[in-house]
Amino acid sequence: MLATVRVLVIEDDDGVAGAVVDALRTRGHGVLHAATAGAAAALLSEAELVLLDLGLPDGDGLTLLRRLRRDSSVPVIVLTARSTERDVVRGLHLGADDYLVKPVRLRELLARVDAVARRVPSPAFVPNVVDAQDVRIDLDARRVTVAGRELSLTATEYAVVAVLARRRGVAVSRQQVLDEVWGDATVSGSKALDVHIAALRSKLDRPGLVATVRGFGFRFGG
Ligand code: CA
Repeated sequence: MLATVRVLVIEDDDGVAGAVVDALRTRGHGVLHAATAGAAAALLSEAELVLLDLGLPDGDGLTLLRRLRRDSSVPVIVLTARSTERDVVRGLHLGADDYLVKPVRLRELLARVDAVARRVPSPAFVPNVVDAQDVRIDLDARRVTVAGRELSLTATEYAVVAVLARRRGVAVSRQQVLDEVWGDATVSGSKALDVHIAALRSKLDRPGLVATVRGFGFRFGG
């Protein structure tokens, strides 16, 4: 089974970013997106893998890569329109784990992400099974069991509980859940989130397991 990871896509081209984000989500990865180096800075701590475009509106991606490498061991795949050997070598020298030259072929991108996720053993990587009380969430099999009995969840209910379970014990904002499950924080999505949370709690039947963090979001498993 292949692991899923939370990928931060740093890319200013909406078309490229949209296609990459969709492909990663379809594959089951969590996705955060930043269109600038500045916006990326706030999200870096949440990323388990970074896809970094080198041509950003507010600075050279190589500068960001250098800074990232100084502070973190998160795996980085560089996306670049610069296919010259010199740029590629420089990116790898600065600590990129892999690189892809644009135009990006999505199947190749997903394969590279899987390869990097497999090869870089990092404590940042999400465990594939999350246990809380007698509830087990198998993130590879997309299966939730309570006291050994498998729950029948809708795709959306599963997506919501998976987002929370990946950060077990950590408060996750509504915005974050909406972004990862619905792709954005629409008003309709926000209402739907409450409906799905209610259904999820009812099916899990474990009071307190999916806790409300007032004015913020939710926390799974204590
Ligand atoms: Ca760009």
